[in-house]
Amino acid sequence: MVELKAPRELVLLREAGRVVAEALDAVRERAEVGVTLSELDRVAAEVIERAGATPAFLGYHPSWAPTPFPGVICASVNDVVVHGIPDRTRLADGDLVSIDCGAFVRGWCADAAISFTVGECCPADTELVAATDAALARGISAAQSGRQLGDVGYAIGQPVRHAGYGLLADHGGHGVGRAMHEDPFVYNEGRPGHGYRLRPGLVVALEPMLIADGTDEYVTDRDGWTLRTASGSRAAHSEHTIAITDDGPVILTAP
Ligand code: MG
Ligand code: MG
Repeated sequence: MVELKAPRELVLLREAGRVVAEALDAVRERAEVGVTLSELDRVAAEVIERAGATPAFLGYHPSWAPTPFPGVICASVNDVVVHGIPDRTRLADGDLVSIDCGAFVRGWCADAAISFTVGECCPADTELVAATDAALARGISAAQSGRQLGDVGYAIGQPVRHAGYGLLADHGGHGVGRAMHEDPFVYNEGRPGHGYRLRPGLVVALEPMLIADGTDEYVTDRDGWTLRTASGSRAAHSEHTIAITDDGPVILTAP
C-alpha cells in the first residue's frame, strides 16, 4: 500500500534529507587514499548525531540478511555494487567508492547515495559515475505528477542499456517515509505509460546501480550483505529521495 505524505510530513522528510546530504558531503570530503571505510562511517555518524537524528542503516535487519547491518553508511568499493560494510579496508589510489546513507528525523526517513573516485582515477570510472548520476537525474525529471512509474524506469534504464552498461538485477528504488523501505518498488527499467501513477505527496528514493561491463548479475559475500558484480566489473550507485508535488519533483536529499 502506498502512503501519500502530508505537507507537514514533507517538512520533516526534508529535514532528514538535509542531514543525509550533510553526512554524504562530509564523507566525500574525508575520503582520500589511506583512509579506512570505518573512519568514513564515523564521519557520517558524527554528522547524524550532531543533528539530533538517528542513523537508518545501523542495526537494520531485513528478513533476508543473516545479521543486523553494522554501519551507519554502506561503503561499496570497486566491484561492490551496494551494501558494502564499512570495515578497516583502506582506500587505495584509483578506487571507485559508493556511499549510501539514511537517517531518521522525528520518525521520518531519508535515503541517498553518491559515487566518486579517489586519487588518480581511470576515465572509464569517471564516465561510469557520470552515467549513473545522469540516470538518476533523468529519473527525477520524469517523476512528474500524472506520469507513471514505468515512465521513470524507462527514463533511468533505456539510455543506460543503450550506452552498454548493466543494471544490478532485482534491485531498484522504493517508497520512503516512516520506514526506509515502503511501497512502491521503483524499477530501474520500465515501459512508458505503465505502472503506478505518480501523485503529489508520493515520496520515493530513485537509485540506479550501474555495472560497467554491461552485465546484471551479482554475488553475495559470506557476510550476507556485500553485493559484488559476478563479473568483477566495477559498479556505481547514485540515489536521492524525492517528493512528487504539483510543482514537479523536489529533491529532499539535496544539500
Ligand atoms: Mg540508500
Ligand atoms: Mg534506497
